[in-house]
Amino acid sequence: MISEREAAKYPFLRDAVSLVDVLDITLDDLVDPSYRKVLDRAEGRVSQAILKGETDSRLEDPPTELLSYPVANMFVTVLGEDFLSRRYALSEALRAEEILREEGEARVAKMARTEFEWTLNLVSESLDGRIYNFELHFSNYLRNAAVFREPKWKLVNRMMKDGYVLLTQPEATRLLKEEIQRKILSFVSVPAKINLPEPLRERTNRLAKVLSENRASITGEDLPSEVVMEALPPCISTAFEGLVSGKRLGHMERFALTSFLINAGMEIDDIVKVFVSVTDFDEEFTRYQIEHIAGLRGSRTRYTPPTCSTLRTHGVCVNPDRICGRIKHPLSYYRRKIWMLQRQEEERQGDVNPQISE
Ligand code: SF4
Repeated sequence: MISEREAAKYPFLRDAVSLVDVLDITLDDLVDPSYRKVLDRAEGRVSQAILKGETDSRLEDPPTELLSYPVANMFVTVLGEDFLSRRYALSEALRAEEILREEGEARVAKMARTEFEWTLNLVSESLDGRIYNFELHFSNYLRNAAVFREPKWKLVNRMMKDGYVLLTQPEATRLLKEEIQRKILSFVSVPAKINLPEPLRERTNRLAKVLSENRASITGEDLPSEVVMEALPPCISTAFEGLVSGKRLGHMERFALTSFLINAGMEIDDIVKVFVSVTDFDEEFTRYQIEHIAGLRGSRTRYTPPTCSTLRTHGVCVNPDRICGRIKHPLSYYRRKIWMLQRQEEERQGDVNPQISE
């Protein structure tokens, strides 16, 4: 039997779901003030998914953490938006991946085998300075790695032994995250007619408002249709200039630049042209990668650029300026700079217009 704390960590597991099922909590029960913390956390989970794209983990109160998960799922199902369902599933899967990374190998292996039926063995292989803790049957590997376009995930670039792919622990948890995301998505994306009591409906109404107020900025729909090159943040313009001057960009730089340009509204064809014309990248492969980041392939998740703190960690944050001190995301920089440029233009026109009318 799974412990309450373990179930709170991984509430999507079958055992965790059973643990909640036996409590037989009804919608009317949830209205009772004793469930207020659960409802607050459930609403918080969905709201974090919308606003940050990643749910945090709060294991100091396992019962609340555990019970809030199915309630959050219910909120997402009731809202019935594909975009939200995908974002929520990704957000919860990232939370689980974060916790799994800190677990021992045995725990990772147990989840992989019992929950997702992976054919996986624990090993201890040290090759080329890397320590491999797992070997995974190639069929399980392919099912989950197919959405990754980085060359290191291609089967031909993997260490293999008798039909098994060797994996480090971060790689195994990264692949498990794909399984978890699909599982959560399958929970929340089944249409259901749920008649919520008024206090719960108030919460879903609030979440619908948060979603509608932020959807445009999350998806970049509020940005101009043409990329405003003068408004690019320093990290992105450095990556862009490096690329056009023939520099080979690192993975994180490439991902940040591509996802930024997609969200800033550049056409896929134009992004492909930028990459292919200045490097020796294979056009078909480059297009596939860009379309994947744009959400047109694979998991259908449209990626946004990483946050400034992630870019800082990977050494991609360069020459930050005064605007950088006020924002936490390159797209926020872009919006703010566009706004400033528009104000400057309006002021300039204000200066010019009186002379025109004279
Ligand atoms: S602070 Fe953010 S926007 Fe500014 S350069 Fe660094 S990563 Fe880019």
